Amino acid sequence: MKKVIIVLLLFTITTQAKMSQCFGTTSQGRIENSIQLPPKGDNFIIYNSLGSLLGRNYVHSKVYDAVINSYAKLTESYPRAKYKYGETGWQNGGEFKPHKTHQNGLSVDFMVPVTDEIGNSVYFDSDLSNKFGYGINFDKNGKYKAYTIDFEAIALHLVQLHQESLKQGIDIWRIIITPEYHSKLFQTTQGKYLQKNLSFMKNKAWIRHDEHYHVDFKVKCKN
Ligand SMILES: [Zn+2]
Repeated sequence: MKKVIIVLLLFTITTQAKMSQCFGTTSQGRIENSIQLPPKGDNFIIYNSLGSLLGRNYVHSKVYDAVINSYAKLTESYPRAKYKYGETGWQNGGEFKPHKTHQNGLSVDFMVPVTDEIGNSVYFDSDLSNKFGYGINFDKNGKYKAYTIDFEAIALHLVQLHQESLKQGIDIWRIIITPEYHSKLFQTTQGKYLQKNLSFMKNKAWIRHDEHYHVDFKVKCKN
């Protein structure tokens, strides 16, 4: 009996050490014990290695699991797609310029997955020359130079993110992507699921959100 209690106690301590604690809101908050996303994996990469070096890619532990597990699932369900994530937040959260939110480990920017002129999934450059990708402007049809947004890849990604979030006992609060693209997402194979289960911000955001989609996760935080 004593042994069982000790094992249980140890288990509780180690899981607590790994769990993040968020405070406040995405627009005014902070986080403890956050985790840094890896700079790359089988089917994804960070927007720029500088983001990782500067520590601009920390998230809540449950968000971390949802993001990483989603990418793993996508290697099977949509292996052709290459995904790139953007900025998330500081290790301890707090103000994260130039973003208005991203303060408590629950906001993640994902750069739009694209295909080239012959339909291959590729990465567009995101470096100093174009504000690390955030300076690019895709038109209302999702085109920029030789690149076309792969809306099917976004839709499948959002479905996986939602499902993996639920497995972590969390949820997705809202998705921000320019309203011009909502109907394009709803026309994909996942359209019905997206409309039924996810909330897309209908109003125009402070920036257009055509080169990335912003996802806010719903996690219980302390005040
Ligand atoms: Zn954002």
